[in-house]
Amino acid sequence: MLNRRDMLLGGAAAALAGSTAGAVAQIVATATQGERAITVLSDGAFEMPQSMLARDVALDAIAQATKVSGPTTNVLNVTCFRQGDQVIVFDCGSGSNFLPGTGKLAASLEAAGISPDSVTHVLFTHLHPDHFWGALDDFDTPLFPKARWHADRREVAFWTDAKVYEKLPEDRHAFAAGAQRIVKALGETLELHDAGSEWIPGVAAFDTAGHTPGHVSFELKDAGGPVFVLGDALTHNIASFAHPEWRPASDHDADLAVATRRRLLDRAETEKAQVIGYHLEGGIGRVERSGNAYRFATGS
Ligand SMILES: [Zn+2]
Repeated sequence: MLNRRDMLLGGAAAALAGSTAGAVAQIVATATQGERAITVLSDGAFEMPQSMLARDVALDAIAQATKVSGPTTNVLNVTCFRQGDQVIVFDCGSGSNFLPGTGKLAASLEAAGISPDSVTHVLFTHLHPDHFWGALDDFDTPLFPKARWHADRREVAFWTDAKVYEKLPEDRHAFAAGAQRIVKALGETLELHDAGSEWIPGVAAFDTAGHTPGHVSFELKDAGGPVFVLGDALTHNIASFAHPEWRPASDHDADLAVATRRRLLDRAETEKAQVIGYHLEGGIGRVERSGNAYRFATGS
């Protein structure tokens, strides 16, 4: 019997077949977990200066470690998880107001055969523009009209605090203004939760603060082993794994982010978790030990 998952996977195959000419595949990866289906969708990509990977490391050392010189391509991966009648989306891309090359989630959803009307829950790892601004469409109405929206209580408190502008460098003030506008637009459909609890049945949030003050990652529990939706706790295929001690420019509290990365890498490797990174190329992989650090292994 053809069920929704079969249709989803069929759509994925078609989209992948048609994507060879495009720069970024609309459907980055798919996986099944028992009767549940995971689809990683692209919101596009943008380029950023390589110096942003580590604020205290010389550029030639960064280039040598990452085997790339010049700008870093930052992919945006939105995870969609379907269980029973629920369609759950983790973060929702950057919309059309952030950076060129991004804001492609709606097209990727269509390629995957996922109707915005069918989305029941959206869970946010944090409220940075590339994860949160896509919550509203070009008409400033919610991208998923029937969804409940879920965010960390600390994260929302930080970005909506009247004094947030005093805590941010000036080039981040637009981040706060955008977050405040969207929190207001979502209104009562936005539910606040605490890390360390299940936000919806089968999906627990755990504390990965550092990148932002209330950053969380999610654990999808299953007998076949956990799946972690990481958000921006690990942001680069090489740097975050081989050099968890590096301090990316985008981490709000760099020292806390380093401690979080080390703890997360150890846990993911120990628990043999599948991990999905918002900015990791390939989307889904596992954390393996490599020398004194780790590496991101895709395709397993
Ligand atoms: Zn991000």
